[in-house]
Amino acid sequence: MATQRVLDFLATRRPEGPCLVVDLDVVRDNFRAFEKALPDSKIYYAVKANPAPEILRLLAAMGSSFDTASVAEVEMALDAGATADRISFGNTIKKERDIAKAYALGIRLYAVDSVEEVEKVARAAPGARVFCRVLTDGEGAEWPLSRKFGCVPAMAVDVLRHARKLGLDAYGVSFHVGSQQTDLTAWDRALADAKRVFATLAEEGIVLKMVNMGGGFPTRYLRDVPAAQAYGQAIFGALRKHFGNDIPETIIEPGRGMVGNAGVIKSEVVLISKKADNDNVRWVYLDIGKFGGLAETMDEAIRYLIVTARDEDEKALCVLAGPTCDSADVMYEKAPYPLPLSLTIGDEVLIEGTGAYTTTYSAVAFNGFEPLRSYVI
Ligand SMILES: *Cc1c(COP(=O)(O)O)cnc(C)c1O
Repeated sequence: MATQRVLDFLATRRPEGPCLVVDLDVVRDNFRAFEKALPDSKIYYAVKANPAPEILRLLAAMGSSFDTASVAEVEMALDAGATADRISFGNTIKKERDIAKAYALGIRLYAVDSVEEVEKVARAAPGARVFCRVLTDGEGAEWPLSRKFGCVPAMAVDVLRHARKLGLDAYGVSFHVGSQQTDLTAWDRALADAKRVFATLAEEGIVLKMVNMGGGFPTRYLRDVPAAQAYGQAIFGALRKHFGNDIPETIIEPGRGMVGNAGVIKSEVVLISKKADNDNVRWVYLDIGKFGGLAETMDEAIRYLIVTARDEDEKALCVLAGPTCDSADVMYEKAPYPLPLSLTIGDEVLIEGTGAYTTTYSAVAFNGFEPLRSYVI
């Protein structure tokens, strides 16, 4: 729920238009909770979740490392005070000239998931460390990452072997169990795969050193989610089970779990109407929608908590839509959303848990709507 600091900010500053307000105190608490839950793992904040400079500076000062996906994100992490040895280029799909630029900036840790990408890294970042991403089934995740990234474990063996042959440091294995992952056993399945890659390569004398256990740590939306501590226990238990006394270096890359619950979007009801006199389904249109930052409502995947000043009143289901002239700009229709019957045009609503994957998903000026403004306090 919105913190008092955020509520005070909104009450005193009264910013016009939809905006995101991020409370850095919450980010600080989240970072500490991850440190405590997995004390032996290094934290690489996934910059794409929210690259606001204030967030990156706070995390850099707290000792975080950074998972980046582009040269621009590498530069943001450097500008925030992170040294190059605390930054990984975690995207498996990179232009060779971007690898070269990152290498020139000092980056020595790269993700790959194919022999073809290894060839690029070997040419543009000679001698660098590479880790190979393996596919996961994404089951249990509300925002699964599908088959776009990673390869099957048997292929990861080939990829890392090839990396070694080309003079790279075959450093480890990575996976991402899918974003907003609430099934604590998901890491167990992925770590079993990672261990198989370690074991097969060890037989050939290639000793991997690191497992990158990715992101996936959830934010509370409508339902409670397990605490960081529960994830820590489940993950550490799985590491013990699969690696015994030989637990490698580990990395986690929280994005959503680091900043999701730190942010709240303030929005306004623009219109409440019906499609026919005898139709009692209300359509509620907000001044923010899929193109203004709520892209994760795609397929109604992420269901945000929406708070109004009239929540004590009787509620009824309604269709919730955004303000643009694109018919795709409907957030919840297949599963309509309960809002107070007394809700009125002009009311402000708070959309909770929106610190991750909102500002950067907002269009620049679709239909002339400004990109989502953000205040970090
Ligand atoms: C997006 C991403 C993350 C962050 O995922 P969350 O589910 O937001 O924690 C971590 N690692 C990689 C490689 C990513 O692409």
